[in-house]
Amino acid sequence: MVYVIDGHIDTATAILRQFRLFSERSDRNHVDLPRMKEGKVQAALFAIYPAMSRYNLINGLDIWFKLVDDPKNELMHIKKVSDFDKAKKEGKIGAVLHFEGAGGIDSEFQILRLAYRLGLRTMGISWSNINNYATGMLFQGPQVDRGLTLEGKNLVKESQKLGITIDASHLNEPSFWDLMDITEKPIFASHSNARAIGPHQRNLKDDQIKAIYDSKGTIGINFCASFLDKEMRINPDPIDLPLEIFKEHIDHIVEHADINTVAMGSDYDGATVPECMFDCSTFPKLFDYLSDTYSKDDLEKIGSKNLMRVFSDTWK
Ligand SMILES: [Zn+2]
Repeated sequence: MVYVIDGHIDTATAILRQFRLFSERSDRNHVDLPRMKEGKVQAALFAIYPAMSRYNLINGLDIWFKLVDDPKNELMHIKKVSDFDKAKKEGKIGAVLHFEGAGGIDSEFQILRLAYRLGLRTMGISWSNINNYATGMLFQGPQVDRGLTLEGKNLVKESQKLGITIDASHLNEPSFWDLMDITEKPIFASHSNARAIGPHQRNLKDDQIKAIYDSKGTIGINFCASFLDKEMRINPDPIDLPLEIFKEHIDHIVEHADINTVAMGSDYDGATVPECMFDCSTFPKLFDYLSDTYSKDDLEKIGSKNLMRVFSDTWK
């Protein structure tokens, strides 16, 4: 049985937009309590998305705590690494508070420090946009050749001092390399794939994969069909990709880094995913398929242990 810590889901936002209940099984989108249990998802990084303005942060935090605090939802807010086990023992699903982008944080980092006290443990510096701190991989138009600003470098330092893991997914290449230059802690890309397999610009080039490996970080396999696909076919067409494509991305990361670098970052509730992995209840199917190639130990690393190691090395 392989348990999963999913490195990226947009469920908090999706639930609100769709007026569905997290505690009840739905046939819409990808994540709810019954389906997480079925998929052996022991915890996930529930993103506040996109955390690009003060309003989005405050509104997102309000939604996030309504979701996590409702006893019907059987969630536990994860603030330290031992909480993962505690949640599992209590039959609850762990929820890590994640900011997808730092654009809503003030330049004196007051919100950052308050958010840490509220339980923020992981954060991207920019979503796919430009903010005071960094530049994202833009989804449209030409890319911008601008890396981390001075404030961005200070934000990384302050976050790592507090015990917040920095997420490199969504950064453009100059921002990525500036981050890797200054980081003193492991960096994870919560939801990005291998560009050598899937040419989408949100995926990581081989030298980026190697740099994350050098930092002792992880790369979470993103289930977004257009990021997986070799031809980058665009959402929202339902795309019939085989399970093999997941293995190709994983194999490539193992080859260019190692088994300790691979994690899960489905992007469920925020992306269009292949039919074979239609929601979070399907994780056992993927691990079953991978068990022809990978040992149980390896699969446990990919499922949860690698991410837990990164959190052990970056949280206080
Ligand atoms: Zn994202």
